[in-house]
Amino acid sequence: MIELDGAVGEGGGQILRSALTLSMITGQAFCIKNIRAGRKKPGLLRQHLVAVQAATQISGATVTGAELGSQTLVFAPKAIKGGDYQFAIGSAGSCTLVLQTVMLALLHADGPSTVRISGGTHNPMAPPAQFLQRAYIPLLRKMGADIDIELLRSGFYPAGGGCIVATIAPCPQLQQLTLMERGERVEGYAEGIVAGLPASIALRELECVGLGMNWTGDQLRMRGLPGEQGPGNALLITLEYEHATEVFCAFGEKMVRAETVAKDAMHEARRYIASQAAVGEHLADQLMLPMALAGGGSFTADVLSQHAITNAEIIGRFLPVAITLEEGEQRSTCTVRATA
Ligand code: ATP
Repeated sequence: MIELDGAVGEGGGQILRSALTLSMITGQAFCIKNIRAGRKKPGLLRQHLVAVQAATQISGATVTGAELGSQTLVFAPKAIKGGDYQFAIGSAGSCTLVLQTVMLALLHADGPSTVRISGGTHNPMAPPAQFLQRAYIPLLRKMGADIDIELLRSGFYPAGGGCIVATIAPCPQLQQLTLMERGERVEGYAEGIVAGLPASIALRELECVGLGMNWTGDQLRMRGLPGEQGPGNALLITLEYEHATEVFCAFGEKMVRAETVAKDAMHEARRYIASQAAVGEHLADQLMLPMALAGGGSFTADVLSQHAITNAEIIGRFLPVAITLEEGEQRSTCTVRATA
């Protein structure tokens, strides 16, 4: 039984999600205390509880402590089974983070799977669906995985109501990936998404990005969604390079000016552009796990967050790998090596 403390590092839900994924794949049981101790509302929220339930269902696990608000959990998986799964978060909790929990595990299933998850698809503090589709999944495909994600309906915080479907073919051994350079820029564009809110919000965001990034015409794309998918507003900036694509986002909020939303998204995009790194902050913490499962890999990142450091620690508790994080002046490097 691996014993984990959910209070380490930033003390967030990622420790639990990574542990669930790694436990299912390695077959090692774990217990975790102090779940999300670093958060304002500690313990399991709907999104984390659904991630636990999803992991339990696909791996036939025995679990104790799977209740809303629970700060301790014991999880003992059996074999991972492929199949058609449906999980409803029932709030605007993030569909993409629930998917993040089960996706890599289902590569180790005995057959193909489809996973349909309803809830939030565009939440602050979580990958938007387009980030998975354009940035994360293409890198997993380079590693040999056959995964596809469809966004059936957008769901924004706090209303939720979105839906994504993932299809995942078994791929028990991922290939190693070296991603030190991003290569030449292929495309850059911004999308102003609005649902159930005035189009002028997205237009103002796009105008601001146009001025800030020196982008024009087809690079500034208005995406009006049916009103019933709202209310919601997201601004996405996609930067496609030869070897990697990044998606940066910011979300409209009451009392926050459209120009401020645009500046927030541009801030991250500009930091990434200036760094010359292959991946940005979020892709960095998410790539470590598949690289560790592949038994090795390396990448450069603009920033290595506390989140990345914590994730590296958790991965090392389950897998025989050493993860080295080196902070450089302009960009940082992550190297994953097998130790056994
Ligand atoms: P909680 O405790 O509330 O679950 P957490 O600490 O687990 O929060 P975060 O640190 O916010 O959650 O991040 C969760 C995951 O979402 C991480 O893998 C992070 O990289 C990813 N993420 C957050 N924001 C973005 C974003 N804008 N684009 C892509 N991925 C993101």
